[in-house]
Amino acid sequence: MRILISVAFFLLLSVTAAQAYEDYENEEQQQDGFGDEDQYVYDQQNPSDINVRSITICIDENRQEVTIKGKALHFFTTDGELIGDIEQNNQYTLRSAPDGIVVGTTPTEHRKLIARSTIGYIQYEGKSYREDLQIVQNPDKGYSLVLVNEISMESYLYGLINKESLPSWKLEAKKAQAVAARTYAMYRKLERPAQFCDLGHTAVDQVYGGLDSEDANSRQAVSETHGEVLTYDNKIVKSYYHSCCGGYTASAEEVWGRAVPYLPGVRCDDCKACPNDSWEFKISMSELGAKLGVPQASRSRYFIDVLQRGVSGRASKIRIKYGSHTEVMNGENFRSRLGYSVLKSTRFTFARKGGTYIFKGRGLGHGVGMCQWGAAGMAEAGSAYREILYYFYPGTIIRRVY
Ligand SMILES: [Zn+2]
Repeated sequence: MRILISVAFFLLLSVTAAQAYEDYENEEQQQDGFGDEDQYVYDQQNPSDINVRSITICIDENRQEVTIKGKALHFFTTDGELIGDIEQNNQYTLRSAPDGIVVGTTPTEHRKLIARSTIGYIQYEGKSYREDLQIVQNPDKGYSLVLVNEISMESYLYGLINKESLPSWKLEAKKAQAVAARTYAMYRKLERPAQFCDLGHTAVDQVYGGLDSEDANSRQAVSETHGEVLTYDNKIVKSYYHSCCGGYTASAEEVWGRAVPYLPGVRCDDCKACPNDSWEFKISMSELGAKLGVPQASRSRYFIDVLQRGVSGRASKIRIKYGSHTEVMNGENFRSRLGYSVLKSTRFTFARKGGTYIFKGRGLGHGVGMCQWGAAGMAEAGSAYREILYYFYPGTIIRRVY
């Protein structure tokens, strides 16, 4: 049964949250910048049509066939009709065919199927998932298969908290993470109608590990913040967060060029335990030039400097000059050119020594919103999750939407 949301259901609660990093370092992308709207406006989008208690997560795509396992697996159409002529098995390989999805040896004329295990959980590539898996043909990519976990928001968060925080962090930090992640997921769901899913499962959105990533702490952090999201002006906010800020979080304006009242950049004294609190990165002048698009002939004599820094000291505009050519690049673009995992943040200074550029920096991630290591530090020092969230997202109010 669908439970629908309305602003009228909002119960006023109180403040803030926390979290961690692991998969960040290996991801080439992170949460992106703002779309046209930075806040969801309920009354313009007919909220009664959107079920914010559930979420769809893409866990794989571009597959010609997928094998899923589970006890008492059943397949349904999108109308809830059981596909009955499939031989009972604990493992099925589904293939994409021109006329629809083939389950085992049984062709169906359906381009989307829902797999459900009525005993235990569904497994895919060694991971277990709660609730249903959708198998969908993508007409834009040669009808290859997309795999989607359709799950309640709270169950999704059970499998997220430990991917976005460390086991040693206090419960209050994990509760802050739960609220920030719930808010982010809900915003994304409300922001754009899903083609196949509301979110991916990597650090581009938020890292989700399914059932195997759950433990008692993650479930407790979620259940003790059940249904709570961050709002500003009665709208769900875009609750960016990042691994660690290195002393000062970034304003949305300095990173994406657009000021957002609840993302102003704040001082953070609590993330010093972050392994990326300070770092150094060296790169040869010719390699850096190549990454920045400097023509081969100029790679031994180009010039770069920081034209502008934001409230947190992050480089927001960087100038590259060679010959008569001048280019100004924003800080995050510059970072993406070099690689997010090596230029860990734009809170850096640099110097050239002979043919080598040496970057020295602080923090990991875009720096906007909650500093996960900072939240962990605040929780360690005794702050409650609301205090943590209200600190990193000033002016917001925590509300329960279901
Ligand atoms: Zn911090």
